[in-house]
Amino acid sequence: MRRKLIAANWKMHLLPVGARALIHRIREEIDRDAAMLAKDRDVLIAPPAILIPAVAEALAGSSILLGAQNMHCEDKGAFTGEVSAPMLHAYGVTHVIVGHSERRHIFHETDELINKKVLAALHHRMTPILCVGETHAEHDSGRALDVILGQLQRGLENVVDHHVTAVVIAYEPVWAIGTGHVATPEQAESVHGAIRGAILERYGRERADAVRILYGGSVNDENVDSLVCKPDIDGALVGGASLKADSFARIVKARTR
Ligand code: PEP
Repeated sequence: MRRKLIAANWKMHLLPVGARALIHRIREEIDRDAAMLAKDRDVLIAPPAILIPAVAEALAGSSILLGAQNMHCEDKGAFTGEVSAPMLHAYGVTHVIVGHSERRHIFHETDELINKKVLAALHHRMTPILCVGETHAEHDSGRALDVILGQLQRGLENVVDHHVTAVVIAYEPVWAIGTGHVATPEQAESVHGAIRGAILERYGRERADAVRILYGGSVNDENVDSLVCKPDIDGALVGGASLKADSFARIVKARTR
């Protein structure tokens, strides 16, 4: 059985005081159910890089995992403004979101660069959360699966068999991110099935069955149950709704079957 993963992407929001307060409130809501939740799911929070030390401190003693929203593919060097895997690792970061559509579209990250970040994360024993997803135009023109499976294939270039199960895939249709237009559970499940099928072809049944595939895009406390109940949807990557303690806690406690 794959464990579910509920991951919060805070994007570029909050200041240290607000971040600590939000963690405090999230912990108030979910710490008491931690033992029950730990049976079948993981919870992750990815704050802005500069808030990672404050959030790490606020998470002390909790089972909530710490993630980053991005990182550079090199360990160190003349890369002004960037942070590396060893730096994140030093603060207890275990997961890193790679290839989010905002990185692809606003910061022009290519599949080649994203692949280097995936490999760097794996090299440092961090879990890359590799985001893939089609734009509105690609969706409307029927090219969604070509785009998604192409991003998947190039993102996983040179990822060897025994490392692929350490990768989490996030299917995030660009038209659903921050828009309130969530994919239907059936739409998402069919894309997740195609992603798993592509992993199966390349890595075999056992590994394809072990890889977690998250859905992201306008997930909230009302639609989460219907999404994560689907057999190939192994959790959610949550943006806007992760900034409110009560809605994020409700999402964390989603009904999964
Ligand atoms: C995201 O940014 O990864 C995301 C899914 O955002 P939202 O939940 O706000 O659509």
